[in-house]
Amino acid sequence: MPGSELFGAEERKEVNDVLETGILFRYNHDNLRNGHWKAKEFEAELAKFTGAKYAHTCTSGSTAVAIAMACCGIGAGDEVIVPPFTYIATVEGALLGGAVPVFAEIDETLCLSPEGIRAALTPRTKAVVLVHMCGSMARLDEIMAICEEHNLLLIEDSAQALGATYKGKHVGLFGKMGCFSFDFFKIITAGEGGAVITNDPVLYDYAHQYSDHGHDHIGDNRGAEQHPIVGFNYRMGELNAAVGLAQARKLPYIIEQQRKHKKILHDCLAQFPQISFRHIPDPAGDAATFIDFFLPDEATTRKVQQAFQKASIGVQYWYDNNFHYIKNWEHLREMKTIAKVHAQTLDELPQDYRTIHLNLPKTDEVMRRLLSMVVRVTWTEDELKAFTQQLTAVLREALA
Ligand SMILES: *Cc1c(COP(=O)(O)O)cnc(C)c1O
Repeated sequence: MPGSELFGAEERKEVNDVLETGILFRYNHDNLRNGHWKAKEFEAELAKFTGAKYAHTCTSGSTAVAIAMACCGIGAGDEVIVPPFTYIATVEGALLGGAVPVFAEIDETLCLSPEGIRAALTPRTKAVVLVHMCGSMARLDEIMAICEEHNLLLIEDSAQALGATYKGKHVGLFGKMGCFSFDFFKIITAGEGGAVITNDPVLYDYAHQYSDHGHDHIGDNRGAEQHPIVGFNYRMGELNAAVGLAQARKLPYIIEQQRKHKKILHDCLAQFPQISFRHIPDPAGDAATFIDFFLPDEATTRKVQQAFQKASIGVQYWYDNNFHYIKNWEHLREMKTIAKVHAQTLDELPQDYRTIHLNLPKTDEVMRRLLSMVVRVTWTEDELKAFTQQLTAVLREALA
């Protein structure tokens, strides 16, 4: 949660710019806003940082996923392959557009595996929504090859991986669109917020239009704008954008600190032969926001988790987590929606949909042995030294 660790004077200054004018809306009012266009500046900063031709901000990472789906033309009845280890927003984004989320297996990258994607393909598969979990990337070359071979759209939910690169290129730029989140727990925060990035000018136009009731945003008179498409309201407000802008400028520092601190944690954990690490296809591109590691089996993993908890060392055992793993998404597995969604009404859904796509033995096998720790940005050298000493002592005892 590096962004929220670094909230300070820079964020307050940007917010005050907006408070002084009272123009909280991202469009128009040119004469009243003292030259402040925080959403636009935030977008420019995101485009610069990621190397994307275009970035468009929106209300959340969840709506970023929904926007990407809509802009890419994924809708009613289309099957989209999603991972069972993500934040549930990825799946909700598919459902919102009327698509049918089909779960596929992950591997030790903690992301969808090429084998898992292949096994989940049907003639109705339209897209893969790849999630780069916990700061690092999926096996992108192989996954892009599958998408090409089967004519599938690739959308990257990069909400947890802002700053991660694969072979020098930022995640979010490998598919049609990349999605980011700036909620309070992400690499940078805007309080709430999200963004899509793309290199495709047509998709970019769809993105800003769709997020603002279909307005074409040509000219400076919103009342006179045309509506090329039907959209909705997913607009980012200037106050959130102001925070996001200040945070985005801190990204190079955040990533650098995370990498430095993660290396120290890695070296500490690597002393223990029982510990192995999450597979990272391009280690140099790791955003390093988490350190993810495996123990040999579930019993040992639980033992270590309990030892960490007892010592007040923050650790995530995602296998039991309510928000991130399908095992605890009973509401989703049972499709407990208020109104009907397309996924329920599709009688042509494969008979074995539930048994094949909700039974994910490989994923379970990975998740049972996985622990993650947040890499703090603000650790001092002394704090980190004390922390690794404590880690070593706790692990020596737990793994004895
Ligand atoms: C956080 C997150 C989202 C949703 O972002 P919000 O801004 O909280 O709506 C989507 N996908 C993933 C992988 C996330 O981690």
